[in-house]
Amino acid sequence: MSDQSASPAAALEAPNPARLRDLASVSAVLKTPLATTLADRFGRQAATYAIRAVLDEARQAIAGGAPSAPTTEDLAIAALARLEAQSRSELRPLFNLTGTVLHTNLGRALLAEAAIEAAIAAMRDPMALEYDLRSGRRGERDDHVRGLLCDLTGAEDATLVNNNAGAVLLALNTLADGREAIVSRGELIEIGGAFRMPDIMQRAGARLVEIGTTNRTHAKDYRAAVTPETGVILKVHTSNYRIQGFTAEVGAEELAAIAGSVGVPLMHDLGSGTLVDLARYGLQREPTVREAVAEGAGIVTFSGDKLLGGPQAGFIVGDKALISAINANPMKRALRIDKVRLAAIAATLELYGDPDRLAERLPTLRLLVRPYAEIATQAARLAPVVARAVGVVFSVAPCECHSQIGSGALPLDTLASGGLVIRSRRGTRALERLAAALRALDRPVIGRMENGGLILDLRCLTDEAAFVASLCGLDSHALG
Ligand SMILES: *Cc1c(COP(=O)(O)O)cnc(C)c1O
Repeated sequence: MSDQSASPAAALEAPNPARLRDLASVSAVLKTPLATTLADRFGRQAATYAIRAVLDEARQAIAGGAPSAPTTEDLAIAALARLEAQSRSELRPLFNLTGTVLHTNLGRALLAEAAIEAAIAAMRDPMALEYDLRSGRRGERDDHVRGLLCDLTGAEDATLVNNNAGAVLLALNTLADGREAIVSRGELIEIGGAFRMPDIMQRAGARLVEIGTTNRTHAKDYRAAVTPETGVILKVHTSNYRIQGFTAEVGAEELAAIAGSVGVPLMHDLGSGTLVDLARYGLQREPTVREAVAEGAGIVTFSGDKLLGGPQAGFIVGDKALISAINANPMKRALRIDKVRLAAIAATLELYGDPDRLAERLPTLRLLVRPYAEIATQAARLAPVVARAVGVVFSVAPCECHSQIGSGALPLDTLASGGLVIRSRRGTRALERLAAALRALDRPVIGRMENGGLILDLRCLTDEAAFVASLCGLDSHALG
């Protein structure tokens, strides 16, 4: 429709044909010095597309009555801005100052350096992923972590898939497809992001047998529910909520005994799962995978990127025969993990062989155990810097705040932390504008709104210099 023949439609769209004619052609813009740089940086094709797009916009602006046509240089500058915006990925690094260390929406665990190096090596070169270097024959992908997982958990055998939701789906499908799966009503949880236990069970082909009540389930409820159709008894760690008061649940050990007496496996979905006793690092205790295995569960499932501090993965450990059956399920192939993550997982698990140095090496643990005094000192140091960056419309003060682990681990236990509270002297709209400006930075800063203030919890701020540099991108004059 850029054709300017005298057709009535063209006349309608182009109320000012003279100005439309002033607009440069694509090839004219491509000849400007800036466009040459553009083509060098992004490629001639991408540069041409971008110039066409900004020309289209200019045409529309003129048709809408814009007072003047952009110059050739203006168009090249607009094309550059467009290409730069496109190449600025939303997946770029940001500062997680939300106070939630394992934030699912911000990607959960950060990897240890050893895991990052292993992942990079796996990306760059071929590796013996499913190849046995000793025999020169086909090998198994799981072999790279099976031994480590068994050592760390005390289980007979182990396998892994894409994530813990996949692990639960695969294990249930293997143990209870077309059969009954018994679970307490108090454990039919929703984790968020559409992971609801009853739905997963149904998709796994299991017939859900709910027993007990929301707050109380007894051993006799489990015993009464077992039939010849029972494929599995399921126990789920109610990761993200707690029922308090008049409650009763059957512990895994007793449940394993009940399951064993009727010849049915017990599956225990731990959710976060941890490979070490966190009390050792001064944190609240969370049941370890080793304990869950020792309690007698035939299958234990847990996540790779929650407390374990590795990449996304779902681990399945337990009895050899059950793991073999899981490995023989064709669904396993559909849920398998890629080589990059596998390399990172192996490197992460290796760190657990040296618990003394784990808090130094594993970022998740390092952030969780960061002492309050250190964070508070950092807050005092940064308060004037942030105050200068956000401008006079806002007040900035150090504050005490509470971090949480996140991803369903220990939902009621918070960690004393230090941060900055930013308040607006011109109402909440200004504060929302500030929060948006922080999110729009080259390296976005994400805090949390609480009691009319914007809290920046500094627990997870490790690169202070980069944070200060990022704040330079704020235009405090535009924020009032
Ligand atoms: C988090 C969680 C899951 C899902 O794990 P992903 O690794 O996110 O797939 C399943 N069960 C429980 C109890 C959980 O806490």
